[in-house]
Amino acid sequence: MKKHALLSFAAFGAALVGTPAYADHAKGLAWDITEGLTTEIGPRQGGTEAEARARVWAERKLKALGFSNVRTETYTMPTWVRGEERGDIIAPFPHKLAITALGNSAATPAEGLTGEVAYFNGWQAFKDARDEDVRGKIVFVNHAMKRAQDGSSYGYFGPVRRSGPSLAARKGALAFVMRSLGTDMHRNPHQGNQSWEAGVTPIPAAAVSLVDAEHMALVAKRAVTLKQPIRMKLLLTPRNLGPQISGNVIAEVPGSDPKAGMVVIGGHLDSWDLGTGAFDDAAGVAITTAAAHNILKSGKKPRRTIRVVWWGAEEVGLWGAKAYWEAHKSEPHALVSESDFGADRVWRIDVKLPEAAKPLGERLAAALAPLGIAASREVASGGADISPAVAAGVPVIDLQQDGTRYFDLHHTPDDTLDKVDPVQLQQNVDAWTIMLDLVANAPEPLLNEAGK
Ligand SMILES: [Zn+2]
Repeated sequence: MKKHALLSFAAFGAALVGTPAYADHAKGLAWDITEGLTTEIGPRQGGTEAEARARVWAERKLKALGFSNVRTETYTMPTWVRGEERGDIIAPFPHKLAITALGNSAATPAEGLTGEVAYFNGWQAFKDARDEDVRGKIVFVNHAMKRAQDGSSYGYFGPVRRSGPSLAARKGALAFVMRSLGTDMHRNPHQGNQSWEAGVTPIPAAAVSLVDAEHMALVAKRAVTLKQPIRMKLLLTPRNLGPQISGNVIAEVPGSDPKAGMVVIGGHLDSWDLGTGAFDDAAGVAITTAAAHNILKSGKKPRRTIRVVWWGAEEVGLWGAKAYWEAHKSEPHALVSESDFGADRVWRIDVKLPEAAKPLGERLAAALAPLGIAASREVASGGADISPAVAAGVPVIDLQQDGTRYFDLHHTPDDTLDKVDPVQLQQNVDAWTIMLDLVANAPEPLLNEAGK
C-alpha cells in the first residue's frame, strides 16, 4: 500500500514538474514554432537585439524544415525603446496606475512630471475641447471599445491612440494618457504604436489598464462634485536608439510554373515587448509556415511557388512590409495572404480575386465549409504586412479568425503561450493548408494588372 502510494505520488509529481500540459511536440509544427519562438526568444521588438536573435532562430528553423531559398533581408529603421514607467493619481484620492508608454512617447523629466488632469469621456469630447481647457495639463481620454468577433471595435476607437497624442501636443497639453485599446478587465495596460504628426513636438504619451480607466472615471465624477482638480504624476523614460538593423526572413516552396506567379503568405516576426508575442504574432508565422510545410512534405510540387515571409518590425511602423515590397514589387505576385489575428479558429473566408478566378473562390468555400468556415460577401483587404501588395492590386484572401478574445491579450503582458489553444491553432493550419493547395495549384490566371 505504502509503496504504491509513494510511486503514485512520484509519477504525479513528475507529471506536474516535468511536463506542463503545453510542452507537447505531438501538437504539431505550428505549436512547435509558437512554443519555440516564445520560449527561446520571447519579446522581440522591431529594431532590437532580441529581434535579431529571432531572425537567426527563424532562419535556422526554416532551413531545418527543408524550405528552399531561406534568407534574411535586412533594412534599417529608427528604433524607440521603453524605459521605466510609473503613473499615479496623487489627488484627491491617491492611486497607483497600471501604465505603459505608447510607441514614440517622449520621456518625462528624470524626476517625473506632475500636473492637473483634463479628463475627457470619449474621443469626440477631447476633439471638441478648447485649447485653454487642455493647455499645461495632462490629458486623459476614456472610450468605450467593445469585444467583437471581427475585432471591428479596434478600428473604430483606434484614432484615440493613433491621433490622440499628436492632438494633445497641438493643443498644448503636458502629456497624454488614454484608456488602453482593449477588452480585458485586468491590471494590464495595452502597448501600441503612434507616430507624431509633422510639426508636432513629442510629449509623454501612455495608456493605462481598462480597470484603471474605470477607476479614473469614478475619480473624475467625484472631482466635479468636490470642485477639486485631479492631479497626476507620470514617470516615463523611453529612449530613441537611432537607426538600427531589422529584417525579413524568407523561405520558399518552389513551384513548377514560374509564369503563374507566386503565392506570398506569412505573419510578422517582431512583437511588442510586454508579453512574449504568442498571439501577436508567433501564431501567425507558425500557422502559415506549418501550412506551407504540409505542401512541401506532400512531395508534390505546387504549380506556383509558395513564399513564406516572417516580416520584421510590423508593430513599430510596418518597416519590414515596406522594405519587402520595395525589394520584390517587380516579381509576379499571384496572391497574398497574412495570418495576424491571434490563434483562435478561422470562422470566415473573404476573397478578392480576378473575375476569371471566380471558380477558385467557389472551390475554396466548398473545401473550407467542413471546417466550420463560412464564405462571405466581404471583400478581402489583407493584413498590415501585405498592405503594399494589396494597394498595388494583388489578389488577396483573408482567413478571418475569431477575434472575440484577441483584444483581451493584444499588446499586453498576457500575450503568452498558455493562451494558445492547440486545437484551434491546428484548425488554422488545416484551413491554410487547404487554401494554399487550392490557390497554388489553381489553373485559373491570378496575375492581374499588378503582376508582371
Ligand atoms: Zn500583429
